[in-house]
Amino acid sequence: MGQVNTSSSWQKAKVVNTVQIASKIKEVALELPEKFTFTPGQYIKAKIHIGDQNIERYYSVSAAIGDNILKIAVEKIKGGILSDFIHKLKIGETIAVKGPAGKHFILNRPNSLFISGGIGIAPFMSIDEKVAESSLFLASFRLMKEIPWSEKLGCCDNVKLFVTREKNLTTSNHGGFIPRRMNIADIKDAVLKLGAAGVSIYICGSTSFVESIKTEIADAELTELEVFTEMFG
Ligand SMILES: Cc1cc2nc3c(=O)[nH]c(=O)nc-3n(C[C@H](O)[C@H](O)[C@H](O)COP(=O)(O)OP(=O)(O)OC[C@H]3O[C@@H](n4cnc5c(N)ncnc54)[C@H](O)[C@@H]3O)c2cc1C
Repeated sequence: MGQVNTSSSWQKAKVVNTVQIASKIKEVALELPEKFTFTPGQYIKAKIHIGDQNIERYYSVSAAIGDNILKIAVEKIKGGILSDFIHKLKIGETIAVKGPAGKHFILNRPNSLFISGGIGIAPFMSIDEKVAESSLFLASFRLMKEIPWSEKLGCCDNVKLFVTREKNLTTSNHGGFIPRRMNIADIKDAVLKLGAAGVSIYICGSTSFVESIKTEIADAELTELEVFTEMFG
């Protein structure tokens, strides 16, 4: 991946594609006027004007294509201003973006454990292949229809998908999906598989998801781990 670009000016990004990748998630491809380089884990800022107000929100880069196209995956939040705006964007329309930014959640360490809740999986989709192949992923969702990139994720041996609220998902028909909440035993098992010592754990998702997983890890007194977190709000 390229070096960190510290671009700090707003640019007009043109929507070149939008795909509904889960019931509430759209992946939007944005073309920038300038070369875009980022490190997995970084995010961009998006801005719109409503009346005399500037509304600004952060979105993790889920992929980059060529020199100047980046992808973000946006969950539509009920009553949410910017997520709703982005979901309504059509190909050819523009939105102001700035970045990339973010230096504390850099996903470049091999032998890592990546834990996500819901749309918190977005930054993990940008991880370099070499890092991904040596790592394990535990991803939690509420319903099957809420899983983005489900075809790709469902057939990766190093990805475990937990589905917590799907009524008819039983052990006989889940086909690779685990019909329960992720727990500390799953995390311990993954750390052990990765070799215990020197494992980095990255947790991303809503504040409540990240806090609860972080607390469970702290209570389990897993040693020699470095834990990094990104909270989406
Ligand atoms: C570093 C960083 C990276 C992020 N990356 C992504 C990403 O890749 N994809 C993505 O979809 N979002 C991401 N977010 C969240 C994003 O920045 C917005 O907060 C989100 O899209 C909601 O904005 P909104 O304007 O639609 O909602 P708002 O108008 O801000 O909020 C409307 C209502 O929804 C509630 N709300 C706000 N955010 C959430 C939430 N995440 N979950 C549940 N309720 C919420 C608010 O409390 C409020 O009641 C990221 C946040 C951070 C800090």
